[in-house]
Amino acid sequence: MHITVLTGAGISAESGIPTFRGAGGLWEGFKVEDVASPEGWLRDQKMVLQFYNARRKAVKNANPNKAHLDLAALEQHHHVQIITQNIDDLHERAGSKNIVHLHGEIFKSRSVKNESIIYDCEGDINFGDIATDGGQLRPHIVWFGEQVPNLEKAITLTERSDILVIIGTSMLVYPAASLLHYAPYDIPVYIINPEIPEMNKKSNYHFIKKNASEGVAEFIRDVLKL
Ligand code: NAD
Repeated sequence: MHITVLTGAGISAESGIPTFRGAGGLWEGFKVEDVASPEGWLRDQKMVLQFYNARRKAVKNANPNKAHLDLAALEQHHHVQIITQNIDDLHERAGSKNIVHLHGEIFKSRSVKNESIIYDCEGDINFGDIATDGGQLRPHIVWFGEQVPNLEKAITLTERSDILVIIGTSMLVYPAASLLHYAPYDIPVYIINPEIPEMNKKSNYHFIKKNASEGVAEFIRDVLKL
């Protein structure tokens, strides 16, 4: 069975990485438009670099939680495809093998001039650090208003699902939220979130109003009967 799992910031909340919608649209005290938009980048590149340098350190110090680990273990029984909006690497560190990052990765940097010049990035990116083409390095993150390069891939994978599971996402960030509509009509869709997102309630949608760790465990036990 092909299980597609769409994850958002909420799945990493129990690992100590905060979501931002709960905090009044702020991301670690910063306005999202200042740190996650091309305009914010043009206004203050040093500040944006510092913001992501701090996020990179925080992710390094975090560990996958039970929800990430249970999803990785599920690969022993089913084909599990993770499509994540998260920029952290907690699905990778939990051991999941099939992962598509929709919004980029905190441990990569890229040239501002050419988005295909991408580097691994464990440490800080500083103002003045340049790529081979002379372009300033920036975080390899998809900001609001930018194209989502992996969207087509994510759509194709979602179209192949037998079950769709949506964990810890507010379903407010597009086009990621639109993936739901590419799942085959009438397949079971499970939504795991302590606060159920605003969305149409179709008969094949099942809501598990729990934190990610408890909700994933319940899904595996009660739905998959494993
Ligand atoms: P969001 O911040 O908009 O929404 C988070 C959702 O998680 C909410 O619906 C909330 O009810 C739910 N939630 C909170 N605690 C939870 C828990 N313990 N278990 C399950 N669900 C929980 O997040 P989003 O929709 O993913 O969009 C935010 C964007 O910001 C992402 O696309 C991402 O690019 C970026 N972001 C990433 C990270 C990360 O990589 N960990 C963290 C913050 C923001």
